[in-house]
Amino acid sequence: MSTVTVWNEFRHEREDDDAAAVYPDGIHATIADALADDHEVRTATLDEPEHGLSDDVLAETDVLCWWGHVAHDEVSDAVVDRVHERVLDGMGLVVLHSGHFAKIFRRLMGTECDLQWREDGETERLWVVDPGHPIADGVGESIELARTEMYGEPFDVPEPDRLVFVSWFAGGEVFRSGCCYRRGKGHIFYFRPGHETYPIYHEPEVQQVLRNAVSWAAPVTKSVTEG
Ligand code: ZN
Repeated sequence: MSTVTVWNEFRHEREDDDAAAVYPDGIHATIADALADDHEVRTATLDEPEHGLSDDVLAETDVLCWWGHVAHDEVSDAVVDRVHERVLDGMGLVVLHSGHFAKIFRRLMGTECDLQWREDGETERLWVVDPGHPIADGVGESIELARTEMYGEPFDVPEPDRLVFVSWFAGGEVFRSGCCYRRGKGHIFYFRPGHETYPIYHEPEVQQVLRNAVSWAAPVTKSVTEG
């Protein structure tokens, strides 16, 4: 069992009725519920002091999950520095969907992390391309999501250490949807699904991937700041 902090900017769900209908308590609450059977979970949001990511919180966090979209620029550089340092020191980081443009992800990747996108409610099929990988544990050959926002290549990230999922979209595009990286002692997983107005994080197979990703990203030695 790992100690997980689920971070969400928590703006769409408070300002947009469609997002609030899908995630009435926020995306972070749905993800936290999905992880709670396997892990000890807390949440943090942008508008809390220090975005809910104080030194103490991060020191106790084995794995940080990150969802952001419209307010990446409002994340303070001091907090980004702090998260960056913890990742290099062994904290796992699971970056979700539009978090590809988060300051922390771009810093860790060293690239712009740009991609193609289209919000048209298309079907997505996530193919497991590395079936032996622990993040694909318990998942079949593929996961089908009925309505999604399309993300397409080229995805401007470094070559992943391991690629677990490749998405196909009804419009014809493909995308590297499950990318593993290591930076310093930290494990990083980018997972594409999860737009704010589609119930992606309510899908059992997506929740299974999230639980697996947290277990995979956890430091080998729990809480490297202890002892
Ligand atoms: Zn989106």
